Amino acid sequence: MSLFDPLDHQRPLVEAAERLAEQVLRSRADEVDHTAEFPRHNFDELAKAGLLGMRIPQKWGGQGADIRTAVMVIERLARACGSTAMCFKMHCEAIEPLWRLANDEQVEAFVKPLAAGKLLATTAISEAGTGSHTWVMQSYATRAGDAYDLTEVHKGWVTSSGHADLYFTPILHDKTAGVGNYTAFMIEKAAVDWTIDGAWNGLGMRANASSPMTFRGQLKAHRHRLGDEGGWQKQVFPVFMPFSMITFAAVYLGIAEGAFAEAIGHVTGRTYGDTGSNLAKLDGIQRYIGEMRLSLDRTRAFVMAVAAQLDADGAADPRHLIETVCAADETALEVTRIAMNIGGGKSYAGANALGRYLRDAQAGSVMAPTDDMIKLRVGRISLGLPQF
Ligand SMILES: Cc1cc2nc3c(=O)[nH]c(=O)nc-3n(C[C@H](O)[C@H](O)[C@H](O)COP(=O)(O)OP(=O)(O)OC[C@H]3O[C@@H](n4cnc5c(N)ncnc54)[C@H](O)[C@@H]3O)c2cc1C
Repeated sequence: MSLFDPLDHQRPLVEAAERLAEQVLRSRADEVDHTAEFPRHNFDELAKAGLLGMRIPQKWGGQGADIRTAVMVIERLARACGSTAMCFKMHCEAIEPLWRLANDEQVEAFVKPLAAGKLLATTAISEAGTGSHTWVMQSYATRAGDAYDLTEVHKGWVTSSGHADLYFTPILHDKTAGVGNYTAFMIEKAAVDWTIDGAWNGLGMRANASSPMTFRGQLKAHRHRLGDEGGWQKQVFPVFMPFSMITFAAVYLGIAEGAFAEAIGHVTGRTYGDTGSNLAKLDGIQRYIGEMRLSLDRTRAFVMAVAAQLDADGAADPRHLIETVCAADETALEVTRIAMNIGGGKSYAGANALGRYLRDAQAGSVMAPTDDMIKLRVGRISLGLPQF
C-alpha cells in the first residue's frame, strides 16, 4: 500500500473522480484545449457523481468530504484535464465560505441546490488594475438600505465566466476603507446584469473561460452577503484561504502526475528502427523518470501533510499553505519540462498531450498567489518582515 492511497472513507469519492477523469474528461481534454470551449458536459457528469457538493455537509445533501479527499479528487481530475480541474477547484473554493457562513436563506437558496449539483460557482477576486496583488480590491458597491448597488464592479480573469451561476467576490463597501476591509458577496448571476468584457485565449487552461467581467445591479444584504459588512478579513478569508491554497496545489500536482504518466507512455512506446530497443531501456531516460517521480513524491508528501493538518486542526501555518502552491506548481513546471525533453520531437510536434500539460502548468506560476509573490512572502516571513 502506498503512503498516498486514499483511506476507506475517502475511497468512494476518489474512485468516482478517477473513473470520471479516465472515462469522461480525458477523451475531450485535447479537443477543449484546442477549441477553448468551456467543458460544460464534464460539469454535468461531476454533478451526477455528487462531486459538485463534495465538501457540503450531508445534512444539506452534500458528501461531507474531508480536505484530503477534496485534494485527491481535484488532483485526479487534473491528471486528465487541467482546465476542468481548475474550473472545478474554483467552484469548490467559492462555495467553501458560503456553506460555512451561510444563513438560513442562503442554505435554501444556494447551499442545498449546490449540493444537488444544480448550480456552478466560481471565484472572482482578481482585478485588472491590481493583478497579482490580489489583496487589493478597487471594485466598489454602495450600500442602499438592506441592499448594495454594484456601482463599479469589474473583475479580471473570472474562471468559468458566464457559465457559473454564482461568483464569490470581495468588494469595497467604503472607498475610504483600507486594504482588507472588504465585504464578501455571492453574486447571483440571475439577479444582476453582467457582461463578459473580452474573450479568453490563454496559453494554457484554454477551456477555462477566464474572461474579465462587469457586474451591475443590486445585491440583497441577507441573500448575497457572506458574513458581516467589512467581514472579509476576520470571517471570510480565514475559511477561504486555506482551502483555496491547498486546492491550487492539488491542481498543479495533478497536472504533473498526468504529464508523468504521458511521459512513461511515450518512452515505453517509442522504439528505434535500427536496434528495436525503446527509450525506456536507456539509463539516461530511466534517470529522468526517477527525477520526475522524486519531485512528485516529495511535493505530494508535503501537500498531503498540510491537508491532513487542516483536517485535524482546522488550520495550518499560513506559510506552509502558500508554500504548497509554489511547491506543486514548480513540480508541475519541472516535470512537464523534463517530460517534453524526453518526449523529443514527436511530443513537440503534438503526438501526445505533453504540450498541453506544459502550457497548463505555466498558468500556475502567474495565477495568484504567483510563484514570485509566494517566494517574496516566504522570504519576508523568514526575515521577520511584514508580508505585504
Ligand atoms: C488561467 C488563469 C485563470 C485565472 N482565474 C482566476 C479566477 O478564477 N479568479 C480570479 O480572481 N483570478 C483569476 N486569475 C487571475 C490571477 O490570479 C492573477 O490575478 C493574474 O494572473 C495576474 O496577472 P497580471 O498580468 O495582472 O500580473 P501582474 O500583477 O502584472 O504581475 C506580473 C508578474 O510580476 C510578478 N510580480 C508582481 N509583483 C512582484 C514583486 N513585488 N516581486 C516580484 N515579482 C512580482 C508576478 O508574480 C507576475 O509573475 C486567473 C489567471 C489565469 C492566468
